[in-house]
Amino acid sequence: MATHRTKMLIIGSGPAGYSAAIYGARAMLHPIVVQGIQPGGQLTITTEVENYPGFRDVVQGPWLMEEMQAQAEHVGTRMMWDTIVEVDLENGAPFRAVGDGGDEYLADCVVIATGAQAKWLGVPGEQELGGKGVSACATCDGFFFRGKKVAVIGGGNTAVEEALYLTNHSDDVTLIHRRDELRSEKILEQRLMASDKITPMWNKTVTSFAAAENGTLGHLVLEDTQTGETSTLEVDGAFVAIGHAPATELFVGKLEMDGGYLVTEPGTPKTAIPGVFAAGDVMDHTYRQAVTAAGVGCMAALDAEKFLAGADFTSVMEGFEAPVTEAGVSEAAE
Ligand code: NDP
Repeated sequence: MATHRTKMLIIGSGPAGYSAAIYGARAMLHPIVVQGIQPGGQLTITTEVENYPGFRDVVQGPWLMEEMQAQAEHVGTRMMWDTIVEVDLENGAPFRAVGDGGDEYLADCVVIATGAQAKWLGVPGEQELGGKGVSACATCDGFFFRGKKVAVIGGGNTAVEEALYLTNHSDDVTLIHRRDELRSEKILEQRLMASDKITPMWNKTVTSFAAAENGTLGHLVLEDTQTGETSTLEVDGAFVAIGHAPATELFVGKLEMDGGYLVTEPGTPKTAIPGVFAAGDVMDHTYRQAVTAAGVGCMAALDAEKFLAGADFTSVMEGFEAPVTEAGVSEAAE
């Protein structure tokens, strides 16, 4: 088990984490990114991205994240394929975190960019049929439903994108929404309405997922939100796309939260603990876009640089050489 030292520890590897790393590395903070269980974050399970500035053509989410990672490494970031399971923030800087294999991280400041995870409905059959027809990721599992009947539950961007994506595999996609109005972007809504493979089903909630005789998903039990009437819908696959919950379990009791999101000083990524910053979906319940997450990641690195310039504690790097990354820290951070 090793001890890793850095001026800037970044927990999480979505756009917020990588952007903080790019700015942090260029400020010679020798950042470490601990990537977590899903390196690249939520964009690695989406397909087409067409609203991230800089690309005139549609780009693929996983490709975009590989590029961000490569850019962060190129300027001198160290990537750790590890997941933080314990943090010690309450005593102030310097900070300590522990990875799931027991590695220890010591840092002068911390950027929390742990993002968010898909939410589940929490109704009977959902968990039991997970991987047997029920999924929260059409781009991961849509392929298994080639030529079959599928449903997507939700009315936001994710649900509409998933429904559109599923038309690559299925001619029979039902979008089930609890209201009669979508909250997705208008351009996505237009595409959904124009597709003859997607049938919207309004004012319905799924109250349970039921298995077929072979043990995989057979049908959904629905309830009409206006009349209370129940009905069933036979499907082979169902994709739950009802939003995301911030990944903040690690910080319960350590940092202030509002509805599960980390609280920061208005308009900044600063938490109540000097030297601890939060960026991206873990703290932003309003915008939640890749580009806004990247923007706040940048702000976190700039604020971290200021915090460290005024620090009155001994750096964890004191007496230790700054490690040379593959790109070469001194050369890359020029
Ligand atoms: P949202 O929170 O935007 O939408 C969640 C949807 O699920 C809503 O329609 C909501 O209904 C519905 N819902 C929530 N809980 C339940 C429930 N218990 N039962 C039934 N339905 C439920 O989440 P998304 O994941 O779609 O998007 C999250 C953020 O990420 C947004 O800011 C979005 O814009 C962004 N995003 C952007 C993309 C892009 O730019 N290409 C792609 C994907 C996401 P109701 O409308 O009634 O509240």
